[in-house]
Amino acid sequence: MRLSYSSISDYRNCPLKYKFRYVDRMPTKKTPALSFGSSLHEVLAFVYNVKTPDPPAIEEVYKSLEKEWLSAGYSSKAEEKQYYEHGKRVLANYYEKNIGQDFKLPVALEHKFGLDMDGFTLTGIIDRLDKNKDGQYEVIDYKTSRKLPPQKQIDKDLQLSIYHMATEKIWGFTPESVSLYFLLPNQKMSSTRDDQQIKETVAVVNDVAEKVSKELFEPTQSALCPWCDFQPYCPYFSHKFSKTDDEISKLVEEYGELKDKEKELKKKSKVIAQDISAWLKDKEEKRLFSENFEVLKSIRSKTTYDDEKIEKILEPLGLWQKVTSLDSKKLSELLENAKLEDEIKEKLRKLASTKETYALTCKRTPK
Ligand code: SF4
Repeated sequence: MRLSYSSISDYRNCPLKYKFRYVDRMPTKKTPALSFGSSLHEVLAFVYNVKTPDPPAIEEVYKSLEKEWLSAGYSSKAEEKQYYEHGKRVLANYYEKNIGQDFKLPVALEHKFGLDMDGFTLTGIIDRLDKNKDGQYEVIDYKTSRKLPPQKQIDKDLQLSIYHMATEKIWGFTPESVSLYFLLPNQKMSSTRDDQQIKETVAVVNDVAEKVSKELFEPTQSALCPWCDFQPYCPYFSHKFSKTDDEISKLVEEYGELKDKEKELKKKSKVIAQDISAWLKDKEEKRLFSENFEVLKSIRSKTTYDDEKIEKILEPLGLWQKVTSLDSKKLSELLENAKLEDEIKEKLRKLASTKETYALTCKRTPK
């Protein structure tokens, strides 16, 4: 089995998507973002692939863009042209900040690796490995996303952790930093990795490998589903593409319309209830009548306590446990906590029992 950062990331987002893409090898659609990203990666490989520390002139960089440009995935010539011009501007900005001023030859470029793990191979391509002025090594990967992520995301980025680990295994030294260069905002974000993080990375990668080998491919819905190429084959979406059973579609439509009305009515009745309550506030009457209905005014109260202060009083009396109960959600979060020993996690998991309940949720399908 071969796993890469992308496939691991796909598995963690949705195991079924991983299966469609890497096990069944179903084709994926070309998109402007993919073609644009690949084109810029190729041009940057050209820029740094020189024998002496004389970088190519910017005109040569533009020529390389022309040569490496991938046309697949764009919806029209106009859209493609827009991306192409944008690519030129992105490269010009990058050139000005990094090449024109302070060009240095990288230690490695587009380095393909395949690490022997526990029964599988972990593969990847390191875009660039630099040796900084103080002799320290830096792993750099290019990104073409528009927005910069928060620093804490960079600090736990799985791809950077894998590349840190790969650098140690391939070249035998520890990179001082690992960075993502965001080409569109023209900014590099760097981070470091320690032994504990690498240990956790190995655990994450091994966990995915184990689940893949056990063929655990349950679909997981997420905000990424609208962009998934495999919707026609996914149980969450396949009906949208087949619509063979008209009767059930009609029922779904009716159910949705009723739910919409229910929401609207709830909203209206809430406003009227507020008006009635406001009217009743200073009045003697406790019950109001219309021709067919009556409304009773009642006061509901809910008492809350300060947990910490109550615990201080009840704990010494040995009564605290009588008023507290286990919070399953918090326990599940604790089980996700990598710091908890595996042995303890295992013991806790064995005590869990899962009861499946059946519920329907209804919302409008986005057009
Ligand atoms: S549509 Fe969503 S749930 Fe279905 S395979 Fe794709 S990512 Fe997974």
